[in-house]
Amino acid sequence: MHELSLCHAIAGVVRTHADGRPVEVVRVRVGALRQVVAESLLFCWTIAAEHEGLGDAVLELEQVPAAVSCRACGRESEITSRWSVRCPACGSGDVAVVRGEEFLVTSIDIRSHEATEAHHG
Ligand SMILES: [Zn+2]
Repeated sequence: MHELSLCHAIAGVVRTHADGRPVEVVRVRVGALRQVVAESLLFCWTIAAEHEGLGDAVLELEQVPAAVSCRACGRESEITSRWSVRCPACGSGDVAVVRGEEFLVTSIDIRSHEATEAHHG
């Protein structure tokens, strides 16, 4: 399953950053063109997180709309259909995707009741 392998990839990144500390929240940015079904991703996360020893971590999705830059008319527009990547302004298929292909972990929250905050100064 596509989403399950994505979740294992997320868990790998999270574990590297958490370095053994308990993780509360994982925030992931997903572009609309990644064809990820949010419900499916969240479901698979519960399986992957359990398997990877991150069973308490909550996955939060930030879904990013797709946008294209059109070579024909020069406009940059958001697109609503993930199946047809063309310029909404003029209908040209000669476009470059400028947004919507993201798939990355943007931040994680580490449980901090053990006062692990660093003192900068
Ligand atoms: Zn155009």
